[in-house]
Amino acid sequence: MRILVTGAAGFIGSHFTRGLLADEYSGWEGARVTALDKLTYAGNRQNLPVSHPRMEFVRGDVCDRELLRELLPGHDAVVHFAAESHVDRSLEGAGEFFRTNVLGTQTLLDAVLDTGVERFVHVSTDEVYGSIEEGSWTEEWPLAPNSPYAASKAGSDLVARAYWRTHGIDLSITRCSNNYGPYQHPEKVIPLFVTHLLEGRQVPLYGDGRNVREWLHVADHCRGIHLVLNGGQPGEVYNIGGGNEYTNLDLTRKLLELTGSTEEMIRRVSDRKAHDLRYSIDESKISEQLGYAPRIGFEQGLADTVAWYRDNPGWWKAVKDGTHRAG
Ligand code: NAD
Repeated sequence: MRILVTGAAGFIGSHFTRGLLADEYSGWEGARVTALDKLTYAGNRQNLPVSHPRMEFVRGDVCDRELLRELLPGHDAVVHFAAESHVDRSLEGAGEFFRTNVLGTQTLLDAVLDTGVERFVHVSTDEVYGSIEEGSWTEEWPLAPNSPYAASKAGSDLVARAYWRTHGIDLSITRCSNNYGPYQHPEKVIPLFVTHLLEGRQVPLYGDGRNVREWLHVADHCRGIHLVLNGGQPGEVYNIGGGNEYTNLDLTRKLLELTGSTEEMIRRVSDRKAHDLRYSIDESKISEQLGYAPRIGFEQGLADTVAWYRDNPGWWKAVKDGTHRAG
C-alpha cells in the first residue's frame, strides 16, 4: 500500500503521517508514505522523522501539476491536508489562501484523475458553515463562510464535490472543529497562549472572550480521518467534532490555571473582524455510520498538551523565532 499525504509537515498532517509510520491505522500497516509539503512558514520538517524506511519526504507545492503527475502514480490514496490555515492571516491578505486552498485542491484532483489514484480524502473545516448561535451543524447545513480562510475552504469543498460528481473520483470530505495538541504552530490560540504564559508574557484575548469554540484533540481528529479514508462513502461529507465547547475566556482561564498564572496575564485586544460567535457540529453521522467516538477528554488532553509545550521549548522557540526553517 502507498499513500500520499499533503501538508505532511504541518500540525495535523504530521500527526497523521507519524500515525501511519507507527502503524496506528488499520488497513495501512506497513504502507509507504509520500509526505508532500511546500514548507511554508507553517510547515516544519522537524514535525516528521529525519528519515524513515517507509517515508519519502518531498518538498513541493500542491499547485505544481507536473510534480503531482510525476509523484502520484502507484499511490492507493491521497489525504489532503495542505492549506493556508490561519484565519487572521487571511484577513491581512487572502491571495495565497485561494491559490493553495482552491487552485491547489483542483490541481491535485486533476492529477488524481489523470493518474488513477483510487481514494481521496479532503480535509476541511466546520468554519465553512459560518457561525451558529444555537444547536449544531449537520452536514446538510448551507455553507456560509465568513472569513476569507473559510471561504477558500468552502471553495475547495465545492471543487472536491464537483470532481466526485463529474468525474466519479472516490472522495470524501471531512469537516472538523478546532484542533489542539502537540506540534501546533504557536500562531494558533492554544499554543500561542501556552507559550506566552510559559515565557511570562501576557496573552491577547479578542473582545469580550465570549466566542465559543468546540475543541477536538488532533489524535481523535486523525482517527476520524482514518475511519473516513477506509469506510467513507464517495461524495459524502463527515463532520468530526470533539464535543467540548468553551468560550475563549473559559479556555484562557484553564490555560492560566495549567501554567500557574493569574488573570493579570490577560490583555484584552480589539475583536477580530467578523469574528464568528460560535461553532458547534453534529457528529452523529460519522458516529453512527463509521463508529467514530473521540477518546481524549478535554481536561486530560489540554493538560497533556500544556505539558508537551512545557517539555519541548526548543521546538516552539525555533518556530517563534523562525530558526526552524534554517535547515
Ligand atoms: P498547518 O498550517 O499547521 O499546516 C499546513 C501545512 O500545509 C504546512 O505544513 C504547509 O507548509 C503546507 N502547505 C501550505 N501550502 C502548501 C502548498 N501550496 N503545497 C504544499 N503544502 C502546503 O495546518 P493544520 O492545522 O495542520 O491544518 C491541516 C488541514 O486541516 C487544513 O486543510 C485546515 O484547513 C484543516 N483544519 C484545521 C483545523 C485546526 O484546528 N488546525 C481545523 C479544521 C480544519
